[in-house]
Amino acid sequence: MCGIAGIVSHSPVNQDLFDALTVLQHRGQDAAGIITMDGSRLFLRKAMGLVRDVFYTDEHMARLRGNCGIGHVRYPTAGVSTSAEAQPLYTNTPFGISLAHNGNLTNTEALKADLYAEDRRHINTDSDSEVLLNIFAHELGELAGTRLVPTDVFEAVAGLHRRARGAYACVAMITGYGIVGFRDPNGIRPVVYGRRKSEAGWDYMIASESVALDVLGFDLVSDIKPGEAVYITLDGQIHVRQCAANPEHAPCIFEHVYLARPDSVIDDIYVYKARLRMGEKLADKILRDWPDHDIDVVIPIPDTSRVAGAELAVRLGVTYREGFIKNRYIGRTFIMPGQAQRKKSVRQKLNPVDIEFKGKNVLLVDDSIVRGTTSQEIIQMAREAGARKVYFASAAPPVRFPNVYGIDMPTSTELIAHGRDHGELERLLGADRVIYQDLQDLIDAVQEGNPDIARFDCSVFDGQYVTQDIGPDYLSQLELFRSDAAKEARRSAGQSVIELHNAATG
Ligand code: AMP
Repeated sequence: MCGIAGIVSHSPVNQDLFDALTVLQHRGQDAAGIITMDGSRLFLRKAMGLVRDVFYTDEHMARLRGNCGIGHVRYPTAGVSTSAEAQPLYTNTPFGISLAHNGNLTNTEALKADLYAEDRRHINTDSDSEVLLNIFAHELGELAGTRLVPTDVFEAVAGLHRRARGAYACVAMITGYGIVGFRDPNGIRPVVYGRRKSEAGWDYMIASESVALDVLGFDLVSDIKPGEAVYITLDGQIHVRQCAANPEHAPCIFEHVYLARPDSVIDDIYVYKARLRMGEKLADKILRDWPDHDIDVVIPIPDTSRVAGAELAVRLGVTYREGFIKNRYIGRTFIMPGQAQRKKSVRQKLNPVDIEFKGKNVLLVDDSIVRGTTSQEIIQMAREAGARKVYFASAAPPVRFPNVYGIDMPTSTELIAHGRDHGELERLLGADRVIYQDLQDLIDAVQEGNPDIARFDCSVFDGQYVTQDIGPDYLSQLELFRSDAAKEARRSAGQSVIELHNAATG
């Protein structure tokens, strides 16, 4: 997952884009970039690191001139961590197009081959976003005359929908014209747009999450609907059109579990309220399956599980306490390469308040259990802090399958719940009892916010991939490519990602 933003304004956008990306920082801490447009000139800065580390001088900001631009924060994807693949990406033909992408294409290799053989376009990185940019550029180039009209943009997005598979929430900037936001026909990743009144007229913004609009003083107009494109021209005209033949909304449920900020609204669903309901449903499950429970205190694993944890405690009628204090100056543990580093950093990140644990039966609540390393470590910490019994609840069901739509989930074999039954999980995690949310309860918790959404992508829980193009071959390729072992082999062999991937695909 990544974060994207694009703005067409009546004043310089550099600070606004910086602020927007900072608000979206939780969606990616690996690399950041902004490209702006002033007349026919483009100004780009992108590099590895947090937004504040990439744009750390006034000069960096001052160079990003113009009233229109797009930006990106990148999540570290499978072992590919170079600044060449930081976004926005750029291609000069036609017009000069830059693109920021959140998601992951699932037919990248086939598209890459087509681009070369048929469209005579070369892809120089291993990034599916570069493929996406070139498909869009090619489609646009085939259509547009010397002057671009809105229909060209929509036809190009329609052409892209016909060719690309997978998840893509994007914002592109077309030099001299404006920005266009679009979302795949399943609307897997979120993207919204909004507007802000300025003295000179309306400013428009496209962003991954509504929280970025809020913070910059924009009002949410709408989500970009699955398959839809929103084209905003430099003179402030907005054009919206459905570009997919058969859009079928199936947004990623994991956005609500973990990825999105709780103060965002996605597809009319308040993430915060969805998490509250996850807590309620989890409490109901405990009351149902374990009516004589002996839980003394509910303790969340900060930060994501706080909302669900607090509500769970209220529903159970049990005390809620912040028993773990988080060092907020340390990165998310999940993103550190290699198991050993991940383990160590859990302890650096969280420290227990012993008095909340001593002699008590504690119910720890997390949003999800992925590899299980965090949970194992935390359960151990709770015991060392003096807990009598340690129970562990997950606001999401067991994560059993990898994600192919842009979340850097480990491979199946690295997921603690993959192929394991409940008893084994309890033993492995080292808890006295483990309570997982039921999938239907999770779906209900989210769907209640917008009953019009008939289906969610729950593939990490049930292995059903909404794009229907994911088979065992794809997953075993992914296994080869993403596992810690494969990443380590790549690192130590100094082999480029492209070489390894080519070797894997033959
Ligand atoms: P673990 O079970 O050790 O893999 O850690 C699970 C924790 O990682 C949960 O508390 C989540 O908050 C967090 N988490 C879940 N999915 C991701 C992800 N894709 N990237 C980073 N952190 C995640």
